[in-house]
Amino acid sequence: MTLPTDPVANLSALIRCPSVTPEEAGALTALEKMLAPLGATVERPIFRDGGTPDVENLYARLGEGGPHLMFAGHTDVVPPGDEGAWRHPPFAAEVADGAMFGRGAVDMKGGIACFVAALGRYVDAHGAPRGSVSFLVTGDEEGPAVNGTVKLLEWARERGETWDAALVGEPTNREMLGDMIKIGRRGSLSGRITVRGRQGHVAYPHLADNPVRGLLAFAEALLQPPFDEGTSDFPPSNLELTSIDVGNPAVNVIPARATAAFNVRFNDLWETETLQAEIHQRLDRAAAGENRYRQERPDPVDFDIEWRDRPSPAFLTRNERLVKTLAAAVGAVTGRRPELSTSGGTSDARFIKDYCPVVEFGLVGQTMHMVDERVALEDLETLTRIYTRFLDDWFA
Ligand SMILES: [Zn+2]
Repeated sequence: MTLPTDPVANLSALIRCPSVTPEEAGALTALEKMLAPLGATVERPIFRDGGTPDVENLYARLGEGGPHLMFAGHTDVVPPGDEGAWRHPPFAAEVADGAMFGRGAVDMKGGIACFVAALGRYVDAHGAPRGSVSFLVTGDEEGPAVNGTVKLLEWARERGETWDAALVGEPTNREMLGDMIKIGRRGSLSGRITVRGRQGHVAYPHLADNPVRGLLAFAEALLQPPFDEGTSDFPPSNLELTSIDVGNPAVNVIPARATAAFNVRFNDLWETETLQAEIHQRLDRAAAGENRYRQERPDPVDFDIEWRDRPSPAFLTRNERLVKTLAAAVGAVTGRRPELSTSGGTSDARFIKDYCPVVEFGLVGQTMHMVDERVALEDLETLTRIYTRFLDDWFA
């Protein structure tokens, strides 16, 4: 059997599977076929949960001993949108102007195609690695992300799998390959505050209690002072008010309740719990204290706060060998010095970091989720060479 050393061939096989979340659509089968000549053992657990679609995932391992490197990613893609708007059909993997077009080209079937090719080249040159390489690939990253990476990690751990390091192949570069390695992410916390007042006539405010005044006090307490000044690795934590809702159509009525929603992107000076405690404290102080929005009212603002979605913690990978080996591989192949960044939204790395040190490096993300998503063939070759170099050095 021939080794899967060509990233272009690997990617075209993957793009031709229309694996819009939660459909497998042959994408994991295509990946399994590429991994077979490498001698990997492949398993494809299906996870279920009430209210979400069943999702098929893939775990493959090549080798038995340590050190054990995990490559993590997803084969599901976002919908193509209006297919007529694409210059080349979204699931045809057509090549034009030196680029391959298709949904998932950069996010992130391309990253998978390159890593498989790199491993193929590594095995071609050295035989099986002195250690193990595993693939942790989910079909549920772009969707609810309930039946994907979180469960796959637990599933593998229950079977005795442990890892020394992980590389996530999501697109991390802004403009050019070699721009950026992600070594951590900010945390995310969302909440909604409801203030209860007493409805009444605007001409008789002393008979009513306007909840909007309480909400203004809360907004000010959340925005000032700043939560922190940032660290050498992270920008300052930032709270954004995302909505203020009263829903009152009348001009002469003081409303009975008002709500505000917010999201905080926070650095690793905070745990989710310490940040929640800080927010509670600020609100309690504002509710009880005097402030310019409240008329002479001895009673505190009546409110509650509800935490929404799943908060995700901030993390920073401090494993020097992993970060340095990857940065050196990027430098050796591209001649560029990648920024070590914690920017951007959350990714599945936030789940993997509970199991082993994790870094992220993949293609250029410019066209991800867009019409005409595409990847330069040259970038596929360059990324494959970076991954190959990384494997060489990490297993050396
Ligand atoms: Zn992605």
